Amino acid sequence: MTDNTILRLAIQRKGRLSEDSLSLIKESGIKFSSDTGRLKSTSRNFPIEFLFLRDDDIPDYVADGVADIGIVGENVALEKGKNIDNIKKLGFSKCRLSLAIPKEIDYLGLQYFHQSSIATSYPRILGSFLEKNGIKADIHEISGSVEIAPSIGLAAAVCDIVSSGSTLLSNGLKEVETILHSEAVIIGNQNLSQQKKSILDRLLFRIESVQKGKNNKYILLNAPNDKLDEIITLLPGMRSPTIVPLADKNWSSVHSVINEDEFWDVIENLRGAGAEGILVVPIEKMIL
Ligand code: ATP
Ligand code: MG
Repeated sequence: MTDNTILRLAIQRKGRLSEDSLSLIKESGIKFSSDTGRLKSTSRNFPIEFLFLRDDDIPDYVADGVADIGIVGENVALEKGKNIDNIKKLGFSKCRLSLAIPKEIDYLGLQYFHQSSIATSYPRILGSFLEKNGIKADIHEISGSVEIAPSIGLAAAVCDIVSSGSTLLSNGLKEVETILHSEAVIIGNQNLSQQKKSILDRLLFRIESVQKGKNNKYILLNAPNDKLDEIITLLPGMRSPTIVPLADKNWSSVHSVINEDEFWDVIENLRGAGAEGILVVPIEKMIL
């Protein structure tokens, strides 16, 4: 019988997802012992329990309901093809799943792969990509060190996870096609009880506040009063900027929030409009 008063979250025990997954939980104010040598840990201040697993196993555990939710790469979630919900993208562990071939070969297009052999740990994603493009090729499924397959004569090409491309290069390969862009996601069981759903909502609310905080900066600046109108129009802000008078009666201090994406453009425009003494401060959490 599952305990409906607690949400079970599966995270990778050790690997490229672990550190960012743990920090996200900690920044959400959830306290627990993150000694990943253990298999399980329970939070001291939030109704959540952690299972530390290999990432490949997480979609199965979530689909079976052993875990309620999990954090994995989209690549793994998709490859496993389980009936699970994609609940939220998390913005870390970004990578792509790509096709790569020996670097000395001139690549003229997807036809290169027709009748060839490709080594991969992602037979399902690769298979459907090839099918969609009308390419017939032998897929050799191997679970690791895929990039050495061409040099040992196991396959003509590989389909593997790439981030900088340096592993491919050092194995004499070059990336020629991108099949999928991936990042860490929260996946969930499709039959969560109402109680578990409401714990999940609380968790997501916290995670979103942390994410918004990271994507925004608090900005303070001084402006001569005769320039205030123009400066205010340049500031997006949460509602409208805060204006505080300075001791010098002709000047004011303006406070607002700027999104990371438009940050430098806004700063340049503000300076052009006469703003001075601009301070930019990180935001820990943001609740709208
Ligand atoms: P496990 O032992 O848990 O099975 P693993 O070796 O299969 O771990 P990792 O290498 O830790 O997996 O990668 C986990 C996930 O991180 C990948 O599935 C992918 O989504 C993402 N990832 C892989 N390589 C990179 C990279 N170079 N940069 C960023 N993210 C990556
Ligand atoms: Mg794995």
